[in-house]
Amino acid sequence: IIGQGLTGTWLSYFLHKQGISFKIINDPKTVSATSVASGVINPVTGRRIVQTWMIDTLLPFAIDAYRAFQQDENVPIIKEAPILSIHPSLQMRESFDYRLTHDNIYLKENDHSSLGEYFNTPFGTGEIDQCYWIDLIQFLKAGQQKISNHFIEDYFDVSDMILNEQGVQWKNINAEKIIFCDGINTMNNPYFKSLPFVPNKGEALIVKIKGLKPTNIYKTNITIVPWKDDLFWVGSSYEWSFSDALPSQGFKEKMITALNAVLKLPYEVVEHLVGIRPANTERRPFVGLHPKYPQLGICNGMGTKGCSLAPYFTKQLIDHIEQGTMIEPEADIKRFSTLLST
Ligand SMILES: Cc1cc2nc3c(=O)[nH]c(=O)nc-3n(C[C@H](O)[C@H](O)[C@H](O)COP(=O)(O)OP(=O)(O)OC[C@H]3O[C@@H](n4cnc5c(N)ncnc54)[C@H](O)[C@@H]3O)c2cc1C
Repeated sequence: IIGQGLTGTWLSYFLHKQGISFKIINDPKTVSATSVASGVINPVTGRRIVQTWMIDTLLPFAIDAYRAFQQDENVPIIKEAPILSIHPSLQMRESFDYRLTHDNIYLKENDHSSLGEYFNTPFGTGEIDQCYWIDLIQFLKAGQQKISNHFIEDYFDVSDMILNEQGVQWKNINAEKIIFCDGINTMNNPYFKSLPFVPNKGEALIVKIKGLKPTNIYKTNITIVPWKDDLFWVGSSYEWSFSDALPSQGFKEKMITALNAVLKLPYEVVEHLVGIRPANTERRPFVGLHPKYPQLGICNGMGTKGCSLAPYFTKQLIDHIEQGTMIEPEADIKRFSTLLST
């Protein structure tokens, strides 16, 4: 496995559980999305507040998987945390109110008077249920500890890889298959670079807010997520066009303006994070084996939804390799067979 972000960690966890031998190679100096993500699973999305793709299947699978991981590793990583939506405009409030009575099982009304102590709520509030917070820092740490005998800290250079009839060789390691879970780095991989990746830069601030309850996620035109102790993750940006993966002063100022407008409590910025999301034009994952080189596989393209997508699709990929079961057609890289074969 190349990469130990969300996807590589889930792949290694399931392989380990199934007793399938593997090595996982990760270079901590290479840019990662997981290490800066807020870790929220939110079943609805967008201005129209519609349910996210396949959520009725993905959500129960993800909850079971994170809870099983938590139990196996004896480390708390998943917490149910309803999102309190502080409507940022009249239009968003109307959108929420409409969705309350149309094709919705996740939204509900709430009593916003309790929030008035902490936030300005001129357009009212609502609640999104069945939302979860995943402690990704703990998840990556525990995931790495679990498979420490199989873990190699190194940079994987594709040009050092030799494909042969038995599979693939890299340095002194021989494997039947190699699965790329290296996030946005796959864009430089000659075997998979024709997949329609579109990197998306995301920044966030870690902010100390004394007195704000860590029981909920708060969402307005920014999202405030309990991090640890009295620290909160505040973000984010979605930049499709950028020239570097560095923290920007513009983002910081934008967040401070937004916090000043909505938050009644004093706060202090303590850290500024940046990551690149492995997004793509279709907003669907890239899962499967290369049509021409079946010893090469990929589980990637998780975009903005790695927390809910990664457990389900890493398991699908393993089942596909082991038992020949089908990969969800919308996620299967078979759809790019022509592109990948030329
Ligand atoms: C600011 C921000 C907020 C986000 N919030 C959320 C959220 O709340 N909920 C959600 O579901 N998703 C969120 N996401 C998206 C989520 O982070 C991604 O979908 C997910 O983390 C992708 O995981 P991955 O393992 O595929 O890729 P990555 O996390 O990028 O992992 C790739 C790994 O591969 C390693 N690597 C890369 N190249 C090499 C190489 N050549 N050799 C060795 N190792 C290599 C990297 O070091 C890294 O560890 C957010 C993303 C950002 C940037």
